[in-house]
Amino acid sequence: MIFVTGGAGFIGSNFVIDWLASSDEPLVNLDKLTYAGNPDNLLSARQDARHIFIKGDIGDQALVSRLLQQYQPRAVVHFAAESHVDRSIDGPADFVSTNINGTFSLLEAAREYYAALPAVKQRDFRFLHVSTDEVYGSLAPNEPAFRETTAYAPNSPYSASKAASDHLVRAYHHTYGLPTLTTNCSNNYGPYQFPEKLIPLMITHALVGKPLPIYGDGANVRDWLYVGDHCTAVRRVLEAGMPGQTYNIGGWNEKTNLGVVHTLCDILDSMAPKSESYRDQITFVTDRPGHDRRYAIDASRIERELGWRPAETFDTGIRKTVRWYLDHAEWIAGIRSGAYLNRAQQLQSMN
Ligand code: NAD
Repeated sequence: MIFVTGGAGFIGSNFVIDWLASSDEPLVNLDKLTYAGNPDNLLSARQDARHIFIKGDIGDQALVSRLLQQYQPRAVVHFAAESHVDRSIDGPADFVSTNINGTFSLLEAAREYYAALPAVKQRDFRFLHVSTDEVYGSLAPNEPAFRETTAYAPNSPYSASKAASDHLVRAYHHTYGLPTLTTNCSNNYGPYQFPEKLIPLMITHALVGKPLPIYGDGANVRDWLYVGDHCTAVRRVLEAGMPGQTYNIGGWNEKTNLGVVHTLCDILDSMAPKSESYRDQITFVTDRPGHDRRYAIDASRIERELGWRPAETFDTGIRKTVRWYLDHAEWIAGIRSGAYLNRAQQLQSMN
């Protein structure tokens, strides 16, 4: 049994679906179902008796302790977070509450649980914390990509809150001996991503003829990884990562935002043609305050030490992604109408 947090969000739901497809081991999925947690992401997993969904807050330490006691997991895989930079600029409080205080509560519950495990189970226990490359700050054009040893320099309330949680996780290993693993991954894209993030926002706007808003000059660079590859990397780190260590995960795919949007428009022109090119919908809007210029991940450690490699190139992953959104109009409609929020409100737990 493993214990997953945030498994109704974008990456978490992909992880849950992949896990159920590739392992017999059951999992508990604790998710608060904020606006970013969508029961529609888990439609296939809902039928599976190995998936135990619990609606709840990682910051509710009594609940987490009770669940750990009840299900006796061999690992915690921690995805739950507030994850959108723009929202962190408009309202940082939720980011401090979930990403810092919530992770702290989860660590406390895990520490207590771990301390009471028999030695043979302690040896195998892992607490895997999923984090972001944004903790490293912004790179100049010629600077080398982020390595695990790069100094932290978070610039947004989101990245600062994730950096704080990374430090807490590190401290729980060094101080209490909790067998932690941390992963810092580049920007993900793929199925089930909430359409406030660049790629699904552009696809969903394009399809209804809305403007495609690009911050500033569109020259900000991000390093992109297909979500399925992130999930295989997390599974690999869980299996073979060394406790107390961190692993950078990325696909060696640096792209400017404008380049990504041009690619999306060109794919849509071929998959869903209309009289004018989708590129005609591009508009430039006032830049995000403090917008980091460039992120780039050096993934050589996880490749060398754990033998992980992404299966998708940007070209194959982005085509799959556009196809998925074209084929899942109902999923998009559920978000657009807000119906998914009603479903989330009704849902308490599954199995
Ligand atoms: P998301 O916003 O899509 O999903 C977050 C999930 O966490 C949602 O299901 C939400 O309901 C749940 N959640 C939020 N607060 C909670 C709380 N207090 N208790 C329980 N559940 C709560 O996020 P995502 O894009 O899937 O990111 C998942 C993790 O991966 C995050 O920790 C994020 O920092 C990290 N990450 C994301 C990316 C990316 O490109 N999306 C890249 C690197 C790392």
